[in-house]
Amino acid sequence: MELKPCLSAIVTGGASGIGKALSLALAERGIFVSIIDFSEEKGKQVVAYIEKQNAKFHKDLKFPSAMFIRCDVTDTGELSSAFAKHLETYGGLDICINSAGIATLVPFHKDQTDGSNSWRRTLNVNLIAVIQCTLQAIQAMQASKKAGVIINVGSAAGLYPLYGDPAYSASKGGVIMFTRTLRPYKHQGIRVNTLCPEFVETDLGSLVGSKMVSSLEGFIPMEMVIKGALELITDETKAGSCLWITNRRGLEYWPTPIEEAKYRVPSSKLKRTSIPTYLLDLKLPQSFEKIVVHTLNHNFRAATRIMRTTLGMSIKRNHVLVKILYAGVNASDVNFSSGRYFTDKSRGPAGNLPFDAGFEAVGIISAVGEGVNSVKVGTAAAVMTFGSYAEFMIVPSKFILPVARPDPEVVAMLTSGLTASIALEKAAHMDSGQTVLVTAAAGGTGQFAVQLAKLAGNKVVATCGGEDKAMLLKKLGVDRVINYKKENIKDVLKKEFSKGVDIIYESVGGEMFDMCLNALAIYGRLVVIGMISQYQGEHGWKPAHYPGLCEKLLAKSQTVAGFFLVQYSRLWQQHLDKLFNLYSSGNLKVNMDPRRFVGLQSVADAVEYLHSGKSIGKVVVCIDPSFSQVVAKL
Ligand code: NAP
Repeated sequence: MELKPCLSAIVTGGASGIGKALSLALAERGIFVSIIDFSEEKGKQVVAYIEKQNAKFHKDLKFPSAMFIRCDVTDTGELSSAFAKHLETYGGLDICINSAGIATLVPFHKDQTDGSNSWRRTLNVNLIAVIQCTLQAIQAMQASKKAGVIINVGSAAGLYPLYGDPAYSASKGGVIMFTRTLRPYKHQGIRVNTLCPEFVETDLGSLVGSKMVSSLEGFIPMEMVIKGALELITDETKAGSCLWITNRRGLEYWPTPIEEAKYRVPSSKLKRTSIPTYLLDLKLPQSFEKIVVHTLNHNFRAATRIMRTTLGMSIKRNHVLVKILYAGVNASDVNFSSGRYFTDKSRGPAGNLPFDAGFEAVGIISAVGEGVNSVKVGTAAAVMTFGSYAEFMIVPSKFILPVARPDPEVVAMLTSGLTASIALEKAAHMDSGQTVLVTAAAGGTGQFAVQLAKLAGNKVVATCGGEDKAMLLKKLGVDRVINYKKENIKDVLKKEFSKGVDIIYESVGGEMFDMCLNALAIYGRLVVIGMISQYQGEHGWKPAHYPGLCEKLLAKSQTVAGFFLVQYSRLWQQHLDKLFNLYSSGNLKVNMDPRRFVGLQSVADAVEYLHSGKSIGKVVVCIDPSFSQVVAKL
């Protein structure tokens, strides 16, 4: 997240100590701040300072640039009102720093419980209130569908025991573990982190004995704490992280990846055990139908035919039989049917004929061969190997991606969703606070790219050809939709994005590619996802020449990167889990084209429909409607 003057923050305990220092650091960057604290006098002083700082960034504001909200963070009602006031004033929440904290002033064995200095009060302020504030902040960030950062101020006393105050140590340990378990919220663009300094010279830190402080090489300078907090806010890779700050070692993330690897189980392994099985009437036929490419041709209909094939009595060792329910249609189906993906020069593409068509499908495992332990009959599965335009497929079990449901939306998450998710992360190195341009944005993969870019906190510009598509893109939260049937893309980009675009997810090719390249900002990255406009030319696809490309890239430190999903198979399960989580939590929409294609005989129609430019969202073919209806009811 880039720290910019339009952001707003809540800081609990912002009237003094670390909370005050962080509030002032945010104010120096023009950020609106609500100070939530007990102490009215100190809180108002901080607000006055922030307003002075903010005046440099904002003129003629119709609302205050900082507010003091008196609130006991342990009072849920007061806290809710404080968050509501902030949201009402600033229209959202980008940063929440939970810094309010106390120490227990009586030795543990003398604690009378329930008094103002009791261990119970320490836990209420330092842990329970932090949990409640985090909850309020997450809900506020989810509601505004914007990226956000929450920093819970923990303490080094949560990483190792502070013998003088067990309740304090317990509360901070709780904050750290609580915060680390919130890491999955990063998939919604919400990063929750803990900042764990050793002793800082504040009212609270000064309670610690000088011997103890000097054994730790003195108090931590406040600048170091601010540096750590700003790093957690701006660095997108930090989510669920715990930053330990010491004079002895500097800023250090804890635990280290090596420590973490000792106990971490890959999340996809955990998911596999909870995959439901569909014990339907899975009768195995003696034969089944599939689509084969018999002639190399970019005209899919001319290249293919439906063929019946026999199903052997037993499934090969380590293989499974998948009953296909839905198959996904892709722009590249025509590249495959023309033999473009075969790279073995000695054989030539024609040497592979006949071969099976289709890239992706979901279905149910119907039989397993010997040696297969990872999946069982009835498991809902996705496959991303060639040959999925078929009623059944036999594939090595290691190629199976177990999925929660064999639904059309899951098919959309395969080639289309995974391409957007992995390409934006690995090829575009997408951050937040950037401008991202997506072409063919209302298509199968474009719809995912715009939403993921938005969830990461970017400004999104999208091109499409048609009013219905433009409406969909607006609903998905795109900031500037360019319907090229109504507006000239080049003119809009030149006029409204004169500094250029930081990231371009480009899948149209031809003139669109040229236009995008000219619209790229300094340091910009253009990712070549495809070139659908070139796939079906009368004479096929001709390699293009780009004279002057190197000079252009050199002059602006730009990058043009290619992306081919097949080369990222190691990341498929991880990104599929991420997309499914976003989808099931309501943060990602999956738009299916409303036109129904049923049965293998409709596949060529579906491929042609996708290339007509009329489709909106993902095009799928329902291979067996009778099975799909049964599954839908489960
Ligand atoms: P899609 O975007 O659903 O394709 C349909 C959209 O493409 C249409 O709505 C239209 O959008 C545009 N379009 C169709 N024909 C066109 C033409 N002749 N000229 C210009 N635009 C045309 O298809 P998809 O399967 O998701 O694929 C999109 C792109 O991503 C393709 O280039 C594909 O090859 C690529 N892809 C690449 C990878 C990879 O690993 N690199 C993986 C998946 C897909 P508008 O007219 O509204 O712009």
